[in-house]
Amino acid sequence: MKRIVLTGFRGTGKTEIGKQLAALNGVPFLDTDALIEQKSGRSIPEIFHDDGEERFRHIEREVIAGLPAADAVIGTGGGAVVDSENMVHLRRESTLVLLSADIDTIGQRLARSPRPPLTNLPLREEIAEMLDRRRQHYRASSDFCMDTSGTTAAAAAEKIAGLLKTGVPSDAARADGLTFFRGGRLPATVLRRLEQILAAPPSDPQTRILGVAGYPCAHSRGPRLFNGLFTEFGLNNYYTFFEDPDIGRIMQAARSLDVKGLSVTIPFKRDVMEHLDEVDEHAAQQIGAVNTVVFACGSAIGYNTDWLGVRKPLVDMKGAKAVLLGAGGVASAAAYALRDLDMDVTILNRTPAKAKELAQQLDCRWAAWNTFDHLHPDLVVNATPLGMEPDTRSPLTADQLYPDLTVFDLVYTPPITPLIEQALAKGCRTITGTGMFAEQAREQFYLWFGIDLPDETIRKYLT
Ligand code: NAP
Repeated sequence: MKRIVLTGFRGTGKTEIGKQLAALNGVPFLDTDALIEQKSGRSIPEIFHDDGEERFRHIEREVIAGLPAADAVIGTGGGAVVDSENMVHLRRESTLVLLSADIDTIGQRLARSPRPPLTNLPLREEIAEMLDRRRQHYRASSDFCMDTSGTTAAAAAEKIAGLLKTGVPSDAARADGLTFFRGGRLPATVLRRLEQILAAPPSDPQTRILGVAGYPCAHSRGPRLFNGLFTEFGLNNYYTFFEDPDIGRIMQAARSLDVKGLSVTIPFKRDVMEHLDEVDEHAAQQIGAVNTVVFACGSAIGYNTDWLGVRKPLVDMKGAKAVLLGAGGVASAAAYALRDLDMDVTILNRTPAKAKELAQQLDCRWAAWNTFDHLHPDLVVNATPLGMEPDTRSPLTADQLYPDLTVFDLVYTPPITPLIEQALAKGCRTITGTGMFAEQAREQFYLWFGIDLPDETIRKYLT
C-alpha cells in the first residue's frame, strides 16, 4: 500500500469512500478540506466568505505540501488538481484515483451540502460548467477511475481496493502485450523491465506504461527524458517504445494494456486520429495531426503539442514576416503557430502543390522554393528533414542569410545543424529544434500528469 489519493469534483464521494477505503487497508484517512478547516480554525464557507477563493487555495496548497509521505488514503478538494504545485505533492510516490458521477447524482448530493458556490450560476449549470473547465485536469489526475453514480460508498471502496490490487489489464492482455513488445526491436534492458511490469501476477499492478508510437522510433529521446522525470518526481510510470508499422496494432496494444499516454511520431500523426475517441480543437480542426494521446477512464483523447513548441520561442515576434520551409506534418503545426502569432506566412515546399494546400488550409501564402531571395522575411523556419543526421545539407545557402533574420531549425539531431551553423556565422538570431522538442514534451507531461515543469528541469535530460 502506498498513498492513495482520491481526486474528483465535489459530490463524487471522496470523503465517504476515502474513509471506507482507508478502513479496508488499515491506514489513516486524511481529508484535505478537514485539514484546511483545522489549520485555519474556520469552516470552508467562512474562509470563502471572509477572505475569498484565492486565500482558500493558498491554505489548500500549504496543507497539500505538508501531507505526510506515509501510507494513507487522502481525499482532496475538487479544485486541488488544477494547481501544478499541488500535483507535484499529490503525485509523489502515490496512485491517484479519479472519482466521477453523473450531473444529477452530483446535484442531489450537493443540494444537501453547505459548500460555497464557485460561480453565480444555478447549481446544475455550475456543475456542468466546472466539470467542463476542469476536464483536462481531472484526466491528468486519473491513474485509475471509478464512477460512483448509483453505488454505495462501501461498494465503491471495495471495487477500488480490488482494482488497486490487480490493475486494469487481465493476465491474457499482459501476455498479448509482451508478445507485441517481443515482436519489436527493443533493447534487452527495456524488454526485461517490460517483462517485470507485465508479469502475471505483475510486480506492481499500479505501474502505468507510456511510450512513443512510431516507425521507426528507436532514435527517440522520449524514454531518457520521461523516465528521468518519473524518477525525479516519484511517479510510478515507465516510458517505452511502441515501434510497429501498423498504428492500429499499436493502439490496440495500448488500450488493452491500459497505457496512460503516447507520444506519436512519424509516420502516424495523421493516421492515429482514426483510432481516437476524441480530438482536441487545435489538433483536429486546424492542424489535422495528433502528437499526443491521453488515455483516461477508457477513452483515448488526441492533442497536438508541436504547435506550442514552435510558438513559445517566437512570442516576441508577433506580426512578423515569416517563411516556412516544408509542408509536411510538423510544418502544419508550425504554420498554425505562426498564424496564431498573426505572422504573414509564406510556405515554400519541394512539391509546390502541397505548399498550396497547406497555405489554403491555414490562411498563408505559398510560392516556389526558388523565390526565397525575393521575400526578405524576419523569420525562416525549417520544417524539412534537411540537415538531420546523417544528411549534412542545409535547406538554404550561407549567402541567403542576413544578420536581422531569425533562423528556427526544427531539426534537432544534431543539436547544431548545418543551417544553424551558417546562421550563427552570419550573426542571425537562432533557435534550435531542441527548444521545440523540450517545449512540446513539457506540454505532454502537463497533459498526462498535471505538472507544469520548469524549462531547466526538461533541459537537464536533453543535453
Ligand atoms: P514529413 O511529414 O515527412 O514532411 C517533410 C517535409 O520536408 C515535406 O514538406 C517534404 O517535401 C520536405 N522534404 C523532405 N525531404 C526534402 C528534401 N530532400 N528537400 C526539400 N524538401 C524536403 O516530416 P515532418 O514530420 O514534417 O518532420 C520534418 C522534420 O521536422 C523532421 O525531420 C524532424 O527533424 C523535424 N521535427 C522536429 C520536431 C521537434 O520537436 N524539434 C518535431 C517533429 C519533427 P515534399 O512535400 O516535397 O515531400
